[in-house]
Amino acid sequence: MYYSGHCKDRDRQKWRCPLKVKNADSTCHCSTSHYGRVVYTHSQDNLRLFPKTPRSCPTWKGIYDKRTAAERVFKRQKLDFKLTFF
Ligand SMILES: [Zn+2]
Repeated sequence: MYYSGHCKDRDRQKWRCPLKVKNADSTCHCSTSHYGRVVYTHSQDNLRLFPKTPRSCPTWKGIYDKRTAAERVFKRQKLDFKLTFF
């Protein structure tokens, strides 16, 4: 789906059919509407997909670097050293 912006009034993201956005009408059969199929997602529904810290900011980069470092340590302990925790 093609990201078509944020609706402030209802606090949700709008996604449109990518074929309709590109005006490739003949190949799209997802909706009878001229505008194409529209799907909305709500930010508060899934914090993993829509985190409170935007992914484009430097703060996110620092948080993500720490998170992946922790995951690498867990992988090293569980898979490489074959440690199990009871
Ligand atoms: Zn479509």
